[in-house]
Amino acid sequence: MRVLRTAAAVRAARAELAPPVGLVPTMGALHEGHLSLLLRARGECGSLVASLFVNPAQFGPGEDFARYPRDEERDCRLFAEAGVDLLFAPALEEIYPSGHATTVAVTGAEERPEGRSRPGHFAGVATVVTVLLSLLAPDRAYFGEKDAQQLAVIGRLVRDLALPVEVVACATVREPDGLALSSRNVYLSVEGRRQALSLSAGLRAAEAAFAGGMRDAEQLRGLVSERVSSQPLAVLDYVSLADGEMRGEIEGAVSAEAVLSVAARVGGTRLIDNVRLRP
Ligand code: AMP
Repeated sequence: MRVLRTAAAVRAARAELAPPVGLVPTMGALHEGHLSLLLRARGECGSLVASLFVNPAQFGPGEDFARYPRDEERDCRLFAEAGVDLLFAPALEEIYPSGHATTVAVTGAEERPEGRSRPGHFAGVATVVTVLLSLLAPDRAYFGEKDAQQLAVIGRLVRDLALPVEVVACATVREPDGLALSSRNVYLSVEGRRQALSLSAGLRAAEAAFAGGMRDAEQLRGLVSERVSSQPLAVLDYVSLADGEMRGEIEGAVSAEAVLSVAARVGGTRLIDNVRLRP
């Protein structure tokens, strides 16, 4: 595995990569969720490129940028074991050169629940993803469904800017008890982790009710919020039931594919999760 640190070096190396080139962008602190993206891309692509960059622009003031888990040595070993050919691990100024003044904003992202809760987050994501896609020019880019609104924002961005890349959505990887894997799970206490299960349990309950014929959006959202709100360490941020592209909230009956998502703080750690409901 080659580890490259500068924009100039990855641009130069791009020409030597066997097509199709697959890209898996990450912020490191790798877990099985990241590995599933890498494994899938490895199987589908001639070359596998990954990026490791904790992007300050997608963290708001008071969020966990400074304490976000970082262990580059361990990550490098895991990237290499997953068959990564080229790892791009840039310093800040390679992504945001001196005088950087351009932000990519996807209209509407800030009006949806996750964007409303994290002002500036999706502009930070859209900007860094645009830079990575421009530098690495992958044929395919792999993202997790775990970050459902992120996936929707990137899909929109790629279509709107006519970027020549296929966005590949990968299923959420969970612990055996249902907890969605996240780099932030390491912040949870034993009791916090137990109560964090209420997010996936609530989503599963709603999924089961939906399979049993429940179609009322408010009732489905209620099944999730009930479970999360009953946990003393949990502070519910939102429960959302949106259309498949997450453009707007569903009121009344669900009649087409929809995304049920939840965000909560558990003992101070912000967690998100979602499931797709298909009639
Ligand atoms: P991050 O390092 O958190 O920015 O995540 C990098 C990529 O891994 C993103 O596309 C995430 O959606 C994806 N990812 C994170 N957690 C999971 C998970 N539990 N299952 C599948 N993909 C995930």
